[in-house]
Amino acid sequence: MQRISRRDFIKTTIAGGIGTIALNNIAKGEGNTRTMTHYIAAYDTESPNCLAACRKIVDIHRRYEIPATFFIVGKVLEASPNEYKELLNNPLFEVASHTYSHQMLKDHAIGGKAASEDKIRDDILLGKALVERVFGRPCIGIRSGWGFDKGLAGAPIPLKYINESGFQYVSSMLWGPDSSLPALLTEPFSYSADGYPKLWELPGHGWHENILKKNTFIPQRLTLWPSPMPEAIPKGFISTPEEEFAINRIFLEKAVESGNSYVSLIWHPWSLHSFDPEMKMLELTFAHVRKLGLKSCTYTDIFHKVSSS
Ligand SMILES: [Zn+2]
Repeated sequence: MQRISRRDFIKTTIAGGIGTIALNNIAKGEGNTRTMTHYIAAYDTESPNCLAACRKIVDIHRRYEIPATFFIVGKVLEASPNEYKELLNNPLFEVASHTYSHQMLKDHAIGGKAASEDKIRDDILLGKALVERVFGRPCIGIRSGWGFDKGLAGAPIPLKYINESGFQYVSSMLWGPDSSLPALLTEPFSYSADGYPKLWELPGHGWHENILKKNTFIPQRLTLWPSPMPEAIPKGFISTPEEEFAINRIFLEKAVESGNSYVSLIWHPWSLHSFDPEMKMLELTFAHVRKLGLKSCTYTDIFHKVSSS
């Protein structure tokens, strides 16, 4: 796997005209800090309950003028194409695929076995075709259902169809080591070791927020011991937007301190909405993104930066 070095990313961002001033003291929470780390708001849009949630989410994004990437399950888009087109056809937003029907692209220690090759192929191809048909623009990114601790490394079947169908990036590294949570702050890498040097993995970070709130219950071990990020593991399920924000800020601040290229948390509109109908957590998080001086962008923006380095 070819990883992008911090120095390469700095060169790229300078070439792209983006400020790369050394980090200020984040611990002090000072505003106007300029950092090379980007923030990506992203939403795994995957159930019928996501539409009402997306209306509220979009409102907040327009108000804060913060971009986002919406990874949409094809079946969900198929059920409400006009509604989603009206909502997301905005230069602030990237619409990418979350597969056609959320099939498992690879074995997952907790989530179960991979689907058949036919189902994997159809899920990848149909998901992309639907986004492109509804929005009339290229769909260059795919996020797998569930995600995996090593992304799709060593998974020739999904990589083959993802590459053949013209996707340029995949976001599938969404778990920590040994299928633990949270997902660590992993940097992008290309799938050159698997034979696809032009295909990039853009990992997601942190918890799958639905699990943190018991909106999805996984009765198995989830965390590592000793933990690489003990400060990001709460004592139990969380119950308020403030508690959720307190965990989010740990990832945002650590990404800045470590000089990561970007940080992006794993969010699901249906789950955000059922836990926090006012979307207070989004406002707290976006205000903190501003305070830390993080530049907001989409997954496609990061793909262009890393792939041209
Ligand atoms: Zn999903």
